[in-house]
Formats: sequence, C-alpha cells, structure tokens
Amino acid sequence: MRFFYAQELSSLSSVVKPFPVSQPRLSCVNNTLVKELGLSNLINNEDNLLKALFMPDGILQKQSIAQKYGGHQFGHWNPQLGDGRGLLLAQVETTKSDLVDLHLKGAGPTPYSRHADGRAVLRSTIREYLGSEAVHHLGIPSSRSLALISSKEPVMRENLERGAMMIRTCPSHIRFGHFEYFFHNGEFEKLDALFEYCFKYHFAHLADTENPHLALLSEICSTSARMIAHWQAYGFNHGVMNTDNMSIHGITFDYGPYAFLDDFISNYICNKSDHSGRYAFEQQPSIGLWNLNALAHAFSRYLSIDQIKQALSIFEPTFLDIYHSLMAKRLGLNNHNNIELSQNFVKILADEFADYHSSFRELSNSIVQIADGDLRSFSDRFKQKDAMQAWTSKYAREIVRQERSPESTQIYMLDTNPKFILRNHLMQKAIIKAENDDFTAVDELIEVVSRPFAEHPEFEHLAMPPSTKEKGIALSCSS
Ligand code: AMP
Ligand code: MG
Ligand code: MG
Repeated sequence: MRFFYAQELSSLSSVVKPFPVSQPRLSCVNNTLVKELGLSNLINNEDNLLKALFMPDGILQKQSIAQKYGGHQFGHWNPQLGDGRGLLLAQVETTKSDLVDLHLKGAGPTPYSRHADGRAVLRSTIREYLGSEAVHHLGIPSSRSLALISSKEPVMRENLERGAMMIRTCPSHIRFGHFEYFFHNGEFEKLDALFEYCFKYHFAHLADTENPHLALLSEICSTSARMIAHWQAYGFNHGVMNTDNMSIHGITFDYGPYAFLDDFISNYICNKSDHSGRYAFEQQPSIGLWNLNALAHAFSRYLSIDQIKQALSIFEPTFLDIYHSLMAKRLGLNNHNNIELSQNFVKILADEFADYHSSFRELSNSIVQIADGDLRSFSDRFKQKDAMQAWTSKYAREIVRQERSPESTQIYMLDTNPKFILRNHLMQKAIIKAENDDFTAVDELIEVVSRPFAEHPEFEHLAMPPSTKEKGIALSCSS
C-alpha cells in the first residue's frame, strides 16, 4: 500500500477515518480485479476487509483522507465541495508501476459534508457498482468496482433507505475541480504542488516535454474527447457532468443518475433534477468542452491564451474522429468515410424511437442476409420500412465492396455491438431484491455486463429492451 497523496499533499486534504455502519456485509467482490491488484488476502474475505476498514490499526484507515476540491455545478462555481462522503483509503502500485486509488464511497461525514450525512444508499451504490463495470467492459474508460458492502444502517433520503459503501478504483481521484479550487482560491503554492504531484506520479511521460503544462492540458482534452466519443457511440448519458465529476484521466466516474439509452432519443435527460437539460445526451460533447474551458482557467498562470486555445482546439477533431470511427465500427465498416451512412441510420432510429442497442445487434445478426440481397428481413422490423430498406440497400453496397467477407464482418460486429446493456429497468428489479438481502439479480447483471458481447443462454431475458410499462424510470440526484 502507498499513501503518496496523503503524505505529499497533506495540506490539500483532511485526515478522516471511515465511520462504521451497522451490520456491514461484503455483498459483492470483483475477484478478477482484486487478484489483478494483488489484494486477495485483504478484500476477498469479509472479516479481513472489515477489520482493515474499521479497526483502529486497519491498513485501509491508517492514512485515509478526504480530498478538497471545488467544482462548477450546473454551470455555477461552487467552492464548497470536496469528498463529503468519500475517502481515499490508499494507493496500490500495479505490476506496471501505475498507481491505483482505493476509494471508499459512503464512508461517513467529513469536513466537506456540508451538513449532509456522508452516506450513500444501497440503491445508488448498486447502480454505481454495476455502471462502472458495464461501461468498462464496453471498452469505455471508467473507474472500476472492487467491493460493495451492504448494511442495515438507516439512511434518510426521500424515504428511509439502507446505507451501503463501495470501494472503487481509479488511477487517481483528481478532478478538474481540484485545480479549479486552488486556482480560484488564490492558493497558488498548493496549485503548484498539485501540478508537481501530477507530473511525478501520474503524467511522468509529460514531465520532460518542452512545456509540461501545455502537454498536460492537451492530454486531458484528448482523453476527455475520447471518453465522450465513446459515451455518444454507446448511448451513455452521464447525467451530472459537473466539473467535480470530471476526472483528469479522461475516465467515466462519479456515477449518479446515469442511463444507457433504450429508445434512441437524442435529447434524452436521465437526471430528472436537470430541469434545463444541460446534461442531456446530445449536450455531452459541448458540455465536455465547456468543462475543459473551466479547467483551462486553472492553467492560466502557466500558459498564454494562445497556448490554452491550442490545447482546447484538440477536443473537437479528436471527438469527431473517434466518434465516427466507433460508429463505422458498429456498422462493420472498415473505413470511416461513411459518416452519412451512420448518421442516416441513427436518424431513422431517432424518428421512430427505436431501441438503440437492439437495432445494432439485429443489424449484426442480419448482415449476411443483407449482403446476399435480402434487405427486408431487417428493414421490415422498423416502422419506417421503406426508409430503412432504402438505407439498407446503400449499406449493403458498402458491405459487399469491402475486402472482408460478410461472415467475418458479422463476427466483428457481434463483438462490437453488445447484446447485454445495463438498462435501468433491469437494475431497478435487481435493487428491489437486494434491498431484501437477495443479491442474485445483481450478480446476474454483473455476469452479463462483464461479457456483454457474448451469448448467455440462461439470461436471455436480460437482453430484452424494456416494455412500455418499464420505460421512463425517473432518476434524481438523490443518492
Ligand atoms: P455528487 O453529486 O455525488 O457528485 O456529490 C456532489 C458533492 O456533494 C460532493 O462534494 C459530495 O461529496 C457531496 N455529497 C453528496 N452526497 C453527500 C452526502 N450524503 N453526504 C455528504 N456529502 C455528500
Ligand atoms: Mg461527485
Ligand atoms: Mg421503440
């Protein structure tokens, strides 16, 4: 275990111990990740884990800290943030010498709790646990879930709920809001120390470049663009893209009222507390750039306006390039000069609110027939049969023109277009069971979203889009 952040940036955080919950149980463990991180002795075993977290000498509470940060929330600067219910427990060094944070969410009050209880409810903890694994296994950069601890701790939200904790991993939990906080507060020595720390531990490959700050801002612009391009291609709506929820590593984290699209609705808003639709699905790329502009202010002591503009200008072309190549990939096309083809497909889906992911999966299943000239068995599944048939006919020409055989293209597409998507209605059912101490449905979801492209014959029902009754579950920020 390492404690570099706690030791070297002690003035940027507060020492806080996890606050025990009543009747904690280790309900989910990510064994693969536990093994990868060499933590088998500690985390596989309920007794060991609870001792490490809650006993006075426990390794996971010896140097635990709450981090200080601010953030732009719904466009407004809020300097009063920080880990209000999360703690950085320790850092682990991987076999590749990378650092990984062990972070406990729902750990209890901290100096940054702002009169809130420091807790997380079981419902939102399960959502985060499942969400980050689903996103990761679709090939989208994300924090990871290591362990979920359920409890009988009563936690008050709109209703009385059960509390829970989870341990997640990330390269670091440094957010855009960390830099913004020390910059806007005029604490420039601390800002310098934070940059120095980043170059030493997380961006060592940039430390010796001609202008490390420019290289860092450029890299964050590029990794953020890459992450958001994946969100758009895979129909993921984050829901709360405040700058305190944006990782400097360009990974998805701080899962709140997120959703994967069922029907394709481009202005879908998964967060019912987002009244203006600031964080609607189609807004995510421009909000990403807005957030990078907010971050860039904190670089203005080190970079000229022109240099900042140069870094920010990386975002748009990177986003478009990755998004279009992902969409071409989903259509089984080798070159990505087929922007119109993918746009027209998505437009038909949008016009009739077709299920986004099933449509791509069905296309993958039909590709050999389509290449053989049978267009209708695919296009007849849509309300706009004629429009889809016209599209399929153009698409078929591209598919047969490729060197790769339709059969190989099909294998490739089935590996690219998930059969299993972490849909809200499925999570809802799993949460209700887990609230009655039955985690089997959570385990089943973990199983399918961890291999979303594979067949899981015993879980066919988990591949189904929601019925009309099951659609439109409202999610708020309450967690
Ligand atoms: P989030 O919406 O989860 O990203 O949280 C935004 C801010 O509110 C962060 O500073 C959190 O630490 C804090 N926060 C959220 N919920 C709680 C809670 N129940 N107790 C204390 N702080 C919280
Ligand atoms: Mg947050
Ligand atoms: Mg539909």
